[in-house]
Amino acid sequence: MNRRISRRNLLQAFGVSALSGAGGLAAFPGALRADPVRQRDSAARLVDGKIIQPQRELPVLHETDILVVGSGPAGVAAALAARRTTGAKVTLVERYGHLGGQWTGGLVLIVVGMYGKSRVQMTRGIGEEMMRRLTKVHRGIVNYGPGRNPTVDAEALKYVMVEMVVEDEVDVLLHCWGVDAVTDGSKVCGAVFESKSGRQAILAKVVIDATGDGDVYAAANAAYEHIPYHIGLVSRIGNVPHPPPKPPEGAKPPRGLGGITPIEGARWVNMQGPTSDALDVRELSRLELNHRRQIWRQVERLRETPGYEDVYLMETAPQLGVRMSRLLDGVKQLTYKDAQAGTPYPDRIGYSGDWTGTDYEWQIPYGALVPRKVDNILAAGRCISAERRMADLIRVIPPCFVTGHAAGVAAAVSLQDGCLVRDVEVAKVRKILKEQDAYLG
Ligand SMILES: Cc1cc2nc3c(=O)[nH]c(=O)nc-3n(C[C@H](O)[C@H](O)[C@H](O)COP(=O)(O)OP(=O)(O)OC[C@H]3O[C@@H](n4cnc5c(N)ncnc54)[C@H](O)[C@@H]3O)c2cc1C
Repeated sequence: MNRRISRRNLLQAFGVSALSGAGGLAAFPGALRADPVRQRDSAARLVDGKIIQPQRELPVLHETDILVVGSGPAGVAAALAARRTTGAKVTLVERYGHLGGQWTGGLVLIVVGMYGKSRVQMTRGIGEEMMRRLTKVHRGIVNYGPGRNPTVDAEALKYVMVEMVVEDEVDVLLHCWGVDAVTDGSKVCGAVFESKSGRQAILAKVVIDATGDGDVYAAANAAYEHIPYHIGLVSRIGNVPHPPPKPPEGAKPPRGLGGITPIEGARWVNMQGPTSDALDVRELSRLELNHRRQIWRQVERLRETPGYEDVYLMETAPQLGVRMSRLLDGVKQLTYKDAQAGTPYPDRIGYSGDWTGTDYEWQIPYGALVPRKVDNILAAGRCISAERRMADLIRVIPPCFVTGHAAGVAAAVSLQDGCLVRDVEVAKVRKILKEQDAYLG
């Protein structure tokens, strides 16, 4: 007999009440399983006008030797370096669904500050390796070569970074937002993450904070300086004519055409944006809304210019352009005076070239990665210890590679030698960095 299966029969077959939901999702077996987070009765409660979060035990999502939080240029370099140094178990955790941080998600495509005095290339090692690999990828990089500032394609770079972390067997967890540190006395022994799986902890022997914003070291109670700075939003426009049409007699060429990218006709358009607080969610929201309107209108205006009628907005960056937010109070602080005077740092772990048109080169001491008081955690990337003026110079991509690379090696060495990261033998770190093709002068 040809028996027709009604929706009610089907739901009953799965042990699900037909009244349980109007949507198709309710028909999935297990769709009515209680949320493991809710099971612990952890919802915040309104008590006497205050919101109280009950105390609860957190599940451990994962255990690792070295936990790197944030997958920008610094985080990816740190994770690869740590793996390559001793083969330690390394876990790289990122709040978004891709690797690369501002370099990819922020569409900050041009790499500046690779060269120091006499055009010596100071960014080598893992950073250089990434760019070299991009030359092998279709439309991966343009303007790559000695003395130049190359521009990458964000999608090609995301791909290359995935290839590299997979090859080196780094554990990667995406869509996990680091919201707290796990501490044991003065030692950091992991971090707490929020994700679709709920609030969970990852335990680690050493943590590297490469969030750009120092989210983990701040949560661990390391001291820092809170800096408001320019926050923009980068975009890409397409169909930009090349060579540029000649402007009518007496008119200037249009503004907002940005810089070249590896894709013909596509250009990346930077935006400085107003000074604002990157740690204030209302500000971040306000800026996103304003910047998106501004970019759209700017492109519309460009389209009114003769010769540019076919230009269109390809994309706005998925990540807001935060340049600076927290700067660590480190064992050493990079100062402009020292950098300008070329004061030698015996514990230097690399250099940054200048990108503002001078011939300076900046040494970076290991102490700038180490918090003054909190243990077992290193900072890497734009949130290391530097005075504001100096931080503006070393926040660009190449020095973020340099500090990420060094943090990864130092974390691995500390585990191998059974010491705290603040007590690591810097001479050993420098030796390994050289072996891994980093530039140390
Ligand atoms: C608008 C703009 C223009 C710039 N122009 C240039 C330029 O022309 N050339 C140049 O070389 N540099 C430029 N920079 C600077 C450079 O892009 C960044 O400073 C550099 O990418 C910083 O690298 P990072 O790895 O330290 O941090 P980021 O690139 O910021 O990466 C941090 C990563 O951590 C993740 N993260 C953050 N918080 C958490 C959390 N709590 N939990 C989990 N993950 C988290 C982020 O999603 C991100 O992936 C520019 C920056 C901006 C914003």
